[in-house]
Parts: sequence; C-alpha cells; structure tokens
Amino acid sequence: MSKRAENKRKNCLNCNKSLRRIDWYYRNNGYFCNKSCFRAYQEKKQAEQKSDKKEAKKA
Ligand SMILES: [Zn+2]
Repeated sequence: MSKRAENKRKNCLNCNKSLRRIDWYYRNNGYFCNKSCFRAYQEKKQAEQKSDKKEAKKA
C-alpha cells in the first residue's frame, strides 16, 4: 500500500539499472545512468525502427 517511493524510482532505459537521483542522465524523456548508455539506447532504437517500421513494440 505504500510503495509509491519504489514506483517513482527510475531505471536506465538501456541497461535497466535502477538509478539514484544523483546518477540520472535525462534525455529525450528517458533516464539513463550515463551518456554512453543513452547513446547505446539511441542506436538500438534506430536499428529497431529500420528493421520494423510498422510494428510498435511494447517495452
Ligand atoms: Zn545504463
């Protein structure tokens, strides 16, 4: 019943590591643990968009 704090915790979109606020790297509405994770995620996304344009994947 009182798990609100846990729900608010962010995870890195690339490696899914839980992030403390001080570690956030916030870009394009997503949270990452650092710059390289952000870039890796961008590249992954671009590759996905190329391979399947129509199918929207649910994370
Ligand atoms: Zn990461």
